[in-house]
Amino acid sequence: MAESSYRGRFAPSPTGPLHFGSLVTAVASYLEARKRGGTWLVRIEDLDPLRESPEATERILASLEAHGMRSDEPVCFQSERHAYYHTLINQLLDRGLAYRCACSRKQLSENGGRHPEHCRLGHADPGERPFAVRFALHDEKCRWQDQLLGPQSQTVHAELDDPVILRKEGFYAYQLAVVADDIDQGITHVVRGSDLLEMTAQQQQIFRALGAQPPHWMHIPVIVNAEGQKLSKQNHAPALDNRHAKDNLQQALAALGQDPRQLSGTPDIDTLLDRAAANWAPERIHLTAR
Ligand code: GLU
Repeated sequence: MAESSYRGRFAPSPTGPLHFGSLVTAVASYLEARKRGGTWLVRIEDLDPLRESPEATERILASLEAHGMRSDEPVCFQSERHAYYHTLINQLLDRGLAYRCACSRKQLSENGGRHPEHCRLGHADPGERPFAVRFALHDEKCRWQDQLLGPQSQTVHAELDDPVILRKEGFYAYQLAVVADDIDQGITHVVRGSDLLEMTAQQQQIFRALGAQPPHWMHIPVIVNAEGQKLSKQNHAPALDNRHAKDNLQQALAALGQDPRQLSGTPDIDTLLDRAAANWAPERIHLTAR
């Protein structure tokens, strides 16, 4: 039973098996939840069947298990939550907070990012054309406190930045689903990679539009390869070898700047994670890799 109201999560998109970079994010979110006596959830963000596979989902879940990190509640799968997203999108459309848009990328870029048919104003009737639904942002200088990076400020440009929340191909989009599920699962604290930092101001507007208070965020540096690129399936980051889970965890903790002396001589993974949680000090994370 959780001792506090803290609710955190790890929410991978199953574009491939877990690699070292995603392990580091998982470990950081897990230890932060444990240290605060909270609840830690796993959510599989499987929204795009063209890029994601059930096999990758299985491998991610097996890797988390092998590394001793278990969701405190049943794993949530976004592929099973379409009806919920559908309802929210209809609510946003009805309230004028989202709009249908049939513009192509080419049309938008030729028009400086503005919609040639004034989609936001509801003037464009997509008719039979495939359309996306976009969330209508408002102009804002958004400021908030990141729990690792400190004070943040981002400028949001209405229309130019409006995120797609339902894709033309009919798939629900990340920007909506991530917020919808953080709300529905009562997530109070998000620990994730700093590659998602730039989405945060937009997501705050979506939280508020859906009547919810945004969570606290902690963005941790992403792990990069020798060429300075984020480890990802696209640049062939190798899958974690579950047979070396303890070593992998130790390396992840080192990448997070944690003191290796506190971890030496731990007999098994569970003890290692318990000790790492007790000593977890996010302020030791090196921010230079950002
Ligand atoms: N599913 C997203 C990803 O794998 C993470 C979402 C989030 O943590 O906000 O990049």
